[in-house]
Amino acid sequence: MRVVVVGCTGRMGYALLEGIFADENLTLHAALDRVDSPSIGRDAGEQFGKITGVKVTSDVQAIRGADVLIDFTRPEASLQYLSICQAEKVSMVIGTTGFTAEQKSLIQQASQEIGIVFAPNMSVGVTLLTNLVEAAARVLNQGYDIEVIEAHHRHKVDAPSGTALRLGEAAAAGAGRDFDKVALYAREGITGERAPESIGFATVRGGDVVGDHTVLFAGIGERIELTHKASSRATFALGALRAAKYLKDKPPGLFDMRDVLELR
Ligand code: NAD
Repeated sequence: MRVVVVGCTGRMGYALLEGIFADENLTLHAALDRVDSPSIGRDAGEQFGKITGVKVTSDVQAIRGADVLIDFTRPEASLQYLSICQAEKVSMVIGTTGFTAEQKSLIQQASQEIGIVFAPNMSVGVTLLTNLVEAAARVLNQGYDIEVIEAHHRHKVDAPSGTALRLGEAAAAGAGRDFDKVALYAREGITGERAPESIGFATVRGGDVVGDHTVLFAGIGERIELTHKASSRATFALGALRAAKYLKDKPPGLFDMRDVLELR
């Protein structure tokens, strides 16, 4: 499979290239980053001591002829690549987080023409956790306060994390609540008592934390905590490559990691 990596000089880009070079079923078709990236013009394998013949470029023409494009960048960049993938009929794996509802609807629209896996967390463990949270919320839908706590490294630009939001949505779905009505993103000052239906979020930022997520169900006399801790970006990269393979020969549509792992 011919794979394009955009954002190839970023943290996730590095992990993706490492995964592609280690997988004999995948070929790096192109590696793109911003026009002002210092890596433009260098061989994409340089940092791994490899000569691949694929030079890091900002030229979107390089996408032509690929099977799938993997995007871990920023929402504005992802949408730019989305329209190019649509035009070139290239499938897309979108791992970028921080999209607005309007931007998400553009992804939904594009999936009428191309196959897209869109997931704020590509790890197998978090995908399973999402299912566990939904199941737990179904049982603990009364008398238990639901809170989502997440921690990430100091460079993360969006909060709460896309994964935390996804876990909150899963909890809301399990508990039979409208997520947009019950999500509570911050508390400060005299907040009053906790609304029983609310699903609260707490965000920690610091150091090099790859990504920790806990969903807490706090009742009277007991607490249940469902936790996932990522210790390396390889977990996201391997999941994204699995998603890329899943899209091979798939008709257009919007999929997430639950589809990829057949957890539906
Ligand atoms: P990063 O800042 O290290 O890397 C982003 C890269 O994108 C940079 O190299 C940047 O130059 C590049 N970029 C920005 N605009 C671009 C453009 N127009 N064209 C090409 N490249 C462009 O960030 P990161 O830690 O690798 O994370 C990237 C995104 O992936 C974030 O939104 C993050 O939240 C998300 N993420 C998702 C998962 C998941 O499993 N879905 C896991 C980790 C990170």
